[in-house]
Amino acid sequence: MYTFILPSGNEIELREMTGVEEELLTNQKLIRSGDAVNQVLSNCILRIGENGDVTTKTVLDMLSGDRLFTLVKLRQISLGDEVELDLVCPNTACRVKNHVVVNLDDLPVTTYPEEREFVFALPASGSKVRFCYMDGNMEKRLAAMQESSISTAMLIRILDINGNPPSKKALSEMSMRDRTALRAEMQRVDAGIDTAIETGCDTCGARIRTRLEAEPAFLFPGIRS
Ligand SMILES: [Zn+2]
Repeated sequence: MYTFILPSGNEIELREMTGVEEELLTNQKLIRSGDAVNQVLSNCILRIGENGDVTTKTVLDMLSGDRLFTLVKLRQISLGDEVELDLVCPNTACRVKNHVVVNLDDLPVTTYPEEREFVFALPASGSKVRFCYMDGNMEKRLAAMQESSISTAMLIRILDINGNPPSKKALSEMSMRDRTALRAEMQRVDAGIDTAIETGCDTCGARIRTRLEAEPAFLFPGIRS
């Protein structure tokens, strides 16, 4: 069996992915709703800390950083550490494929602090925003939304503003300065595994940015993007 320490500090025990999980991960409907990953996680996590009865609810309650970390570890134990990507240059005049090899063991991991809630005073209005970490339940709600934007991803983490429940209106009326500061603060305290890939095109030098989990080769190395 495979054990790892999550960014939150809990120990998890995993088993390798099988054909059952591959079926789940190729089901477009399950992928869109985010349920594919939830089912894979609940199938393959044998234990979290002392809890050996891991259900879909258990994995939805996991912090997003722990969830992505687990997915990366599942990929490593099932398919190996190296991910070979062919990233298409975003420059429409170029469109050359750039071959990039990523070793999953090299991805930076940031551990979660003890505190799970934060109060941040907005620099312009002085309003106090209380926010928490993203978890699987919030990810599921985001996936169900018609339009998910930076605003909705921010809003979903806000517990209250000056003690009042957050609203879309409150966030859209917030000044640019306050929004930028709040976004930076949320990013500053965030934890988990950094799956951002950034490279320059070999041919034209354009920046290529992606996230590993968005690349087919992350879970299906046989498929060339
Ligand atoms: Zn290029």
